[in-house]
Amino acid sequence: YARPSQQQVDSVCPYCGVGCQLTYHVSDGRIEHVEGKAGPANEERLCVKGRFGFDYAHSPDRLTMPLIRREGVAKDPVAVVHRLTPEQVRAQFREASWDEALDAAAAGFRRILASTSARGKQSPVAGFGSAKGTNEEAYLFQKLIRSAFGTHNVDHCTRLCHASSVAALMEGLGSGVVSNPLRDVAKAEIVIVIGANPAQNHPVGASWIKNAIRQGTKLVLADPRRTELARHAWRYLGFRSGTDVALLNAMLHTIIAEGLANTAYIDAHTTDFELLKAHVADFSPEAMAPVCGIDADTIREVARAYATSRASMILWGMGVSQHTHGTDNARSLIALAMVTGQIGRPGTGLHPLRGQNNVQGASDAGLIPMVLPDYHRVSEPDARHKAEALWGLPPGSLGEEPGLTVVEIINAAHDGQIRAMLIQGENPAMSDPDATHAREALARLDHLVVQDIFLTETASLADVILPATAWPEKTGSVTNTDRCVQLGRKAVPSPGESRADAWITEQLARRLGLPWRYDVAPDGSATAGAACGIGAVFEEMRQLMPSIAGLSWARLQREAAVIYPVADETDPGHPVVFTDGYPTPTGRARLVPAALRPPAEEPDADYPLVLITGRQLEHWHTGSMTRRSDVLGAIEPAPVVSLHPQTAERLGLGGGDAARVRSRRGQVALTVRLDEGTPANTAFIPFAYAEAAANLLTNPALDPFGKIAELKYCAVTVEPV
Ligand code: SF4
Repeated sequence: YARPSQQQVDSVCPYCGVGCQLTYHVSDGRIEHVEGKAGPANEERLCVKGRFGFDYAHSPDRLTMPLIRREGVAKDPVAVVHRLTPEQVRAQFREASWDEALDAAAAGFRRILASTSARGKQSPVAGFGSAKGTNEEAYLFQKLIRSAFGTHNVDHCTRLCHASSVAALMEGLGSGVVSNPLRDVAKAEIVIVIGANPAQNHPVGASWIKNAIRQGTKLVLADPRRTELARHAWRYLGFRSGTDVALLNAMLHTIIAEGLANTAYIDAHTTDFELLKAHVADFSPEAMAPVCGIDADTIREVARAYATSRASMILWGMGVSQHTHGTDNARSLIALAMVTGQIGRPGTGLHPLRGQNNVQGASDAGLIPMVLPDYHRVSEPDARHKAEALWGLPPGSLGEEPGLTVVEIINAAHDGQIRAMLIQGENPAMSDPDATHAREALARLDHLVVQDIFLTETASLADVILPATAWPEKTGSVTNTDRCVQLGRKAVPSPGESRADAWITEQLARRLGLPWRYDVAPDGSATAGAACGIGAVFEEMRQLMPSIAGLSWARLQREAAVIYPVADETDPGHPVVFTDGYPTPTGRARLVPAALRPPAEEPDADYPLVLITGRQLEHWHTGSMTRRSDVLGAIEPAPVVSLHPQTAERLGLGGGDAARVRSRRGQVALTVRLDEGTPANTAFIPFAYAEAAANLLTNPALDPFGKIAELKYCAVTVEPV
């Protein structure tokens, strides 16, 4: 229903990478309810988060004034809690005007930069931007860090998400994007979903997969956890956690040994096939079955089905990427598509399911330490010169050496190299591996400035806190997992003195001596034209991004959703890419053999269980938004550890019992949930709960290529409390 007094504003869901379009129904400046809109990714569908997860924007916890840490009040990394009481906030921070807070923020950075001549990777300053902001905000943030601080030490949560997938895709295909949109599952005969739980993490995407299955598509679900989609699967492969390469290389072995490889495609579009063939010769299904736990006949059956189908598609998630061998896992998936030619056509291809609503767009906009906007490597002189010219920087200002990545920045902060950070909308005190270490690192910074909508666990360790606008309070573009650029629109006013992140970034830039004149609106609104404000930022960004060359700010206002690449204003966009080769120097994809390597930390007598961390349907990432939503909080109010009933019984635990989970790095106390889908001797914990933060337990060991941490595998013990 819609009451006459209500306004209706079309926008995009702020949660996952599916990018569902929606309509806010607004009354008296508040979102009353939300309806699905007929966007390309959702056709009016919404999941429980998209439909009910909006009251966070009206939470009394919202930051409404800039805050400055009181003189002499120490930062306590041990006392980090989900919500500080108003008394605790007042004891640590005092309210300030915007001028005072921005001056203090800028002065802190200037002071630390003046204390050393170190720049580039050795710079004492770093920034974490956000995959929850808009493309324009991400673009401005990386531009600020690079221009004002002289370093590429700028990253965001992609490093904990698909960094290894992108490393493998860039290496193999010359591009990190998905080849086909998610809804192409309807055109596929076989869909492999591996290391992903879309029913919880991309729910509307999962609904398209179920629709396709009803129309005859066969689903192969490969995951150590028997998740909801297993009920719909033609074959469920419950392989041993961390043995992806064994399973995938055995499939490659079968395809090549049985003459099912697409030699015409291999000859026309790939290099190094002989190298791959020789490598996988040792990975027979019989040899790999005891390693991965899937019998040889099933491996062969699935490999044959994938190779010989009319159209086969692969979707994957964090179960593939969040390993110290995450890049190797992705290399094997890429090789599967290449040797069978299952790419470049509708219903085929490779689709790493993007997690955050704008992790694709933030990466595209250059919010990563090794590339400028549109993935031009910082080592490319032409790319640097073009950015320097556009940004008004003296030639040679941008360095050729990539900056530090997320976990490297935290380690450098712990070691004292990084002394100041600007963090926009990320919460590393909860999201980074080995959170005790991460919190110590943040507390050791001489100067930490945090922009956020809540006083998060990270903000509680800040020197200056700048209150930002929430997603429904601003206009800007976001890019979903399908490469679809969509327009989010401001629907409600922001509370108190909170300001748009882009405005904050511009104000900081001016105070740091940069002549920025976008004149971004402080309230998150945008003019229809591109002469100033967010539209002007978008138009500047477009000059560095050939992939969106044909997408003007005016076109985005008109169409609200355009899939890149778009060459010009008449180009409708290209949902399927790699139709005729690859953007590599040779025009061919490179096949890279993947080694079989163990996880960085195996279970032993002291820590005999494997811990897998992840998300759950109702709570998003570190919980700062969804745990302030009444409906979502009512469904999942408290932290749980999922255990197989037999594992729980062996440990002397039953459903609902209190348990303590310990690793070599920390411990948490939570409630046992019995789950037959969790493998034996394995524990699963969502990372949304500050009172039992899963990342107090996780291992910060990194994949050497993607620099992603092993959030999907570490050794723990579980015991009754
Ligand atoms: Fe939002 Fe993702 Fe749910 Fe769609 S599937 S409503 S984008 S959380």
